[in-house]
Amino acid sequence: MTFTPKATKCTACGAAIFFCRTSNSEQMPVEFEPNPNGNLAVTPKSDGLPEAVVIRPGQAAGMRAAGLPTYVSHFAACPMADEFRRKARHKSTVDTYRRNAAARSRARRA
Ligand SMILES: [Zn+2]
Repeated sequence: MTFTPKATKCTACGAAIFFCRTSNSEQMPVEFEPNPNGNLAVTPKSDGLPEAVVIRPGQAAGMRAAGLPTYVSHFAACPMADEFRRKARHKSTVDTYRRNAAARSRARRA
């Protein structure tokens, strides 16, 4: 099956990328062109962003042998990656705080 991701441009450096979601439902920018050293398997989803899963080198080689593309995160290449990471780290801290707060309020109700 051929998967054509929806291309967009990195707002920081202008590179062609597309957005995936990770298993944590976070958005991750991925290089638009498949990469022969890629460590991401991208699966199209009918209900939103494609899902990117980090795979082991052996799995990646197997996928490429089967004619399936592998990708790399744009974090690795973007000159503004530090900026992305800072935001991502901040976001996950906020998410964790919210989750903990929600768990506490559920515990109170129970
Ligand atoms: Zn970039």
